[in-house]
Amino acid sequence: MTDHEPEPAAPTHEPHAGRAALATVAVTAGRPPAEPDGPLSTPVVLASTFVSSPGGPQAGDRGYGRWGNPTWEALEEAVAALEGGRRALSFASGLAAVSAVLELVPVGGTVVIPAGAYNGTNQVVDRLVTMGALNVRTVPIGDTAAVAAALPGADLLMVESPTNPLLEVADLAGLAAAARAEGVLMAVDSTFATPLLQRPLATGATIVLHSASKYLSGHSDLLMGVVVTDDEAVARRLHEYRTLRGAVPGPMEAWLALRGLRTLALRVERAGSNAAELARRLVGHPAVERVRHPSLPTDPGHERARAQMDGFGAIVGLEVRGGAEAAERVCAAVRLWVHTTSLGGVESTLERRRRYPSESVAVPPSLLRLSVGIEAVDDLWRDLDAALRETL
Ligand SMILES: *Cc1c(COP(=O)(O)O)cnc(C)c1O
Repeated sequence: MTDHEPEPAAPTHEPHAGRAALATVAVTAGRPPAEPDGPLSTPVVLASTFVSSPGGPQAGDRGYGRWGNPTWEALEEAVAALEGGRRALSFASGLAAVSAVLELVPVGGTVVIPAGAYNGTNQVVDRLVTMGALNVRTVPIGDTAAVAAALPGADLLMVESPTNPLLEVADLAGLAAAARAEGVLMAVDSTFATPLLQRPLATGATIVLHSASKYLSGHSDLLMGVVVTDDEAVARRLHEYRTLRGAVPGPMEAWLALRGLRTLALRVERAGSNAAELARRLVGHPAVERVRHPSLPTDPGHERARAQMDGFGAIVGLEVRGGAEAAERVCAAVRLWVHTTSLGGVESTLERRRRYPSESVAVPPSLLRLSVGIEAVDDLWRDLDAALRETL
């Protein structure tokens, strides 16, 4: 090689010039190095234990399968790259990730959570409060001044945006500034948005977390959670919690989640445009009392979502005329839509959330949470419209 010949760059799956867009990162991040005859895709490593280093454990050794796994690490690298964060940790489920973050609060400390937080998060917090381990302050998360007023003396602000299932939109930058001013750690459950639509770390949050059971994996076939942070001390504590409590995902789940993540941009785009179109058509439907989706100009979260998100997501709240009973009839009448819990898969599903006694009373009894999938929108519309008309 002569002097003036540049060193050939190592193939890295990165474009030649400029930073890759997130749609590209979703495809490229967390792959093995592009080496001659190496695998293009990340293999699944099914191992409970790893061969010991001579002379005792070396820094960074996995050692045992509760400490680490190469397949988790590939997924973690990919989600960290999408969120623009340094460290990601995968967990056995979204709720395991939420529990790990709550464990950052010292015993007897205080967490501030949305009045309409995800039902599972509420239940974990309730248990900790009942045990005397935690104090809780619930706040209307869309009201930045009210949240700020609840921060002094708190340890953790657990934001969700958009919220599950009321689709309230929190002012992420405003809350992050208020939390930092009070020395309160801020975590954002960004499950509904995915890293393609919002990146809470860039707005000043310390932690962003996902139920990877939803959009990140995208096929309703696994449970996982992921937490991302730039804070090394927080990452170390979360890693220790995951290891000691055994809140670890299976390698196969991590592999499936990474495989699903490759199509995240396509799925989010298609599901989001389907959702916006259905929301638009549902407004004014004779069987519908109210539609909640941040894409609607009349939605209370519309302006804020437009300012801080790159799209509006694919969850729609639908209040059916005629109360809980009419809403249940819609669930029974759909054929293409599936009446089931959970969300974020390629298939369209719906559920009346108040069928759970544990669901917040802030959620109207007639509210159906629609998780809009990637099917042809006209098929989704015909099926839903026909089911709604059966209630008239
Ligand atoms: C589903 C969900 C969770 C919990 O995740 P699991 O993977 O079901 O444990 C947490 N937060 C939100 C917003 C969710 O929708």
